[in-house]
Amino acid sequence: MNYYSLNRTAPKVSFREAVINGLAPDKGLYFPETIRPLPSAFFEEIEVTPADAIALEAIKQFVGDDIPEDDLRHIVRETLSFDFPTVQIDDPVFSLELYHGPTMAFKDVGARFMARCLAHFNKGETMHNTVLVATSGDTGGAVASGFLDVDGVDVVILYPSGKVSDIQEKQLTTLGQNITALEVDGNFDDCQAMVKKAFLDDLLKNKNLTSANSINIARWLPQMFYFFFAYKALKKFSRPLVVSCPSGNFGNICAGVMAKKLGLPITHFVAATNANDTVPRFLENWRYEPDATVATLSNAMDVSDPSNFVRIREMYQDDKSAFLRDFSSYSFTDAQTRKAMQEVFSRTGYLLEPHGAVGYLGLTKELEKHPEAIGVLLETAHPVKFLDSVTEILGVTPAIPPQIEAVLHKEKCSVKIKTYDDLKAFLLR
Ligand SMILES: *Cc1c(COP(=O)(O)O)cnc(C)c1O
Repeated sequence: MNYYSLNRTAPKVSFREAVINGLAPDKGLYFPETIRPLPSAFFEEIEVTPADAIALEAIKQFVGDDIPEDDLRHIVRETLSFDFPTVQIDDPVFSLELYHGPTMAFKDVGARFMARCLAHFNKGETMHNTVLVATSGDTGGAVASGFLDVDGVDVVILYPSGKVSDIQEKQLTTLGQNITALEVDGNFDDCQAMVKKAFLDDLLKNKNLTSANSINIARWLPQMFYFFFAYKALKKFSRPLVVSCPSGNFGNICAGVMAKKLGLPITHFVAATNANDTVPRFLENWRYEPDATVATLSNAMDVSDPSNFVRIREMYQDDKSAFLRDFSSYSFTDAQTRKAMQEVFSRTGYLLEPHGAVGYLGLTKELEKHPEAIGVLLETAHPVKFLDSVTEILGVTPAIPPQIEAVLHKEKCSVKIKTYDDLKAFLLR
């Protein structure tokens, strides 16, 4: 399988090179050259097919010959070592809980898959990769845990000092081994600016720096699995399926659109956003005009220029009527988000954290247009990951699950830095 750059001036590369490069040399995102729908027999038997076998079928054409099928099967099995339950909230509304992994964030799956692909490519080589990420909270923990103890890969995470939650900080700073947390005297934008500068720095070329956000195809594509799992769980109702993703960088929803290209029968997608509404506005007036990013309650989705949206446009070939036929995007305020959390909790007892609540709002809005359908929202984080807002809004404190409890008692270990030169000195040490 070859990948081309969406900026269309860089050479085509294989899966392996696309994973190692992250971004193409012309700064475009990589996109697969062909997409082959899965056979109808696959969908006929999906409800009796184990999750790892479904995932292997979905991903293998995108990997091609770069990883032998037996090794890929092993990678997929290790990636999916936890559950993805679909829980009913209400009559036509379900929640696909993506938070049962090691860091209780949906980014665990992409991080674990990418880490194992890189480890496979490094086997028997002297080459060493350094994964460099800036985090405002959740990504860093998932990447740190996903790459822990993976051969040939060092992970360096930059986070803004004093600006991540206690739980998130512990998840970043207590692992040791091949993971280093750099505690930056600054905000998230400062961290991100330093990471971007490092990728362009000629003196760091031989460090094989790689990114681990959803720009990387090995983090993006495995998110397709969720949509197959939702369909597997809900197929028995024989009703059209609407799926809503709380969206920030649009990697998750973009993987859903790809799953549909493989033949997955999803009737309609909803990209639900917070006040960062560039895509909802685009779908109204067909003009892509990002505003300044606004801070919200669902802070993992505070993105005003979502990187993966170009991949979605590619899949719809920028055809407005095709787009609007099965894709909607709605924006919701923090006040609406709070109200949805309270309303769902008091009526059904189901705990939604702010990101899931935005997904819920998008789903119920779209379902008004599809009275015969059922809907599923992707709940992207455990309520305990956003403990302060959940406690304040709902007046209950969710129980701390064991994988979080374990980390709270560990000793924090970070390296404090202030400037880009500090980062560079650390990488060249
Ligand atoms: C990253 C994240 C999102 C947004 O996912 P995208 O794929 O970037 O759209 C939503 N919710 C949570 C909790 C996240 O961490």
